[in-house]
Amino acid sequence: MLNQTKSRALFERAKQVIPGGVNSPVRAFKSVGGTPVFMQKGDGAYLIDADGNRYIDYIGSWGPFILGHNHPAVVEAIEHTLHHIGTSFGAPTELEVEFAELISSLMPSMQMVRLVSSGTEATMSAIRVARGFTGREKIIKFEGCYHGHGDSFLIKAGSGALTLGAPDSPGVTKGTAQDTLNATFNDIESVRKLVRENPDQIAAIIIEPIGGNMGVVPARQDFLQDLRDLCTTENIVLIFDEVMTGFRVALGGAQSLYGVTPDMTTIGKILGGGLPVGAYGGRKDIMSRVAPAGDIYQAGTLSGNPLAVSAGLATLKFLRDHNPYPDLEAKGKMLEEGFRENLNKLDLNLCLKRVGSMMCLFMTEQDVVDFKTATSSDTKKYAAYFHAMLERGIYLAPAQYEAMFFSIKHGDAELEKTIQANYDALQAIYQRAALTS
Ligand SMILES: *Cc1c(COP(=O)(O)O)cnc(C)c1O
Repeated sequence: MLNQTKSRALFERAKQVIPGGVNSPVRAFKSVGGTPVFMQKGDGAYLIDADGNRYIDYIGSWGPFILGHNHPAVVEAIEHTLHHIGTSFGAPTELEVEFAELISSLMPSMQMVRLVSSGTEATMSAIRVARGFTGREKIIKFEGCYHGHGDSFLIKAGSGALTLGAPDSPGVTKGTAQDTLNATFNDIESVRKLVRENPDQIAAIIIEPIGGNMGVVPARQDFLQDLRDLCTTENIVLIFDEVMTGFRVALGGAQSLYGVTPDMTTIGKILGGGLPVGAYGGRKDIMSRVAPAGDIYQAGTLSGNPLAVSAGLATLKFLRDHNPYPDLEAKGKMLEEGFRENLNKLDLNLCLKRVGSMMCLFMTEQDVVDFKTATSSDTKKYAAYFHAMLERGIYLAPAQYEAMFFSIKHGDAELEKTIQANYDALQAIYQRAALTS
């Protein structure tokens, strides 16, 4: 058993003053049970908790740490800015211009870029701009996709609520809910139907091109291309939410992998290299409507602050100059093949999905292609698996519907240990004897 004395005490203290003891719900162990592990420090591929336990980290702060914790290039950039520049001015700086130019060069569909401080801010702002630009009010999103906690996105796709919209969270008004329509991921007919039923009313279609918030669920290429064509025909703004996939699956994001160009893109996570940065951008004619160039308002006191921007700049420059993607793909292949071999040995048919350095083992035998198939997973089994992995020093997301991320710092030793832990954990929770070996 792990010694969690300090984590337990901290959690009791935290619950008195912070709702649920955490500053973001996914950090709590609600769906897997037990006490959240309080972290003391990060080190490359590792996390060390308050009790001194060491884990191989597969969350990477929920996406940002493609370079691992405390990468020297990022630490140096932050230190330099801290000591020689400053943390925030509320006035423009050269760093922001350089950052926007770099983003635009890596993701050419982002002809103009506006920096914000989180992924949520990016998506909220992007749909406001799409609405202002088109003069339309409704948006289409996909069941199982997550776009941050903006009111418009907290709409669940219950079967009866599909067209009317029912708030997923108390506090979201009916009016807001009615303007968000939910379609089925990978099902272009479900989108066409909504567009037909709401003629000239859809401002934007927003999608995660690789669903990363219902596990890992890649869109089919033809589906994204059909979406692109539909949006062009209907004058709908196509928004790729690449807050997770941007700079993760490829330097140019999922849009470069699929060869489908959105009108607008939202990014975050890796973009800030571990500091709070988000951005939205896209076609020049659309982005020119953003204040003060245009009339659609959006602002931020700490937007583009030098400290966060330098962490982001150092991260993106490192990715551009060192191209770690082939290496990350090789690591991913090793991990995936190791897991598949384990599943074979244990005669388990669980669904495993991976794109680059994001992967998900679903506790279901169905092929996961959308929200419905994703939620056929046995979450009780996942909870047992999660704890069995934690005991073995592997820190996974404490929920089935999350991606497993790894970094350039995850070497052969870490991956081999993870593959062995995966075997032992699956064998224990499914109580299987190996068929071979
Ligand atoms: C994480 C995430 C967001 C929200 O970003 P925050 O920085 O948590 O506000 C939005 N969209 C996607 C696809 C995400 O993965």
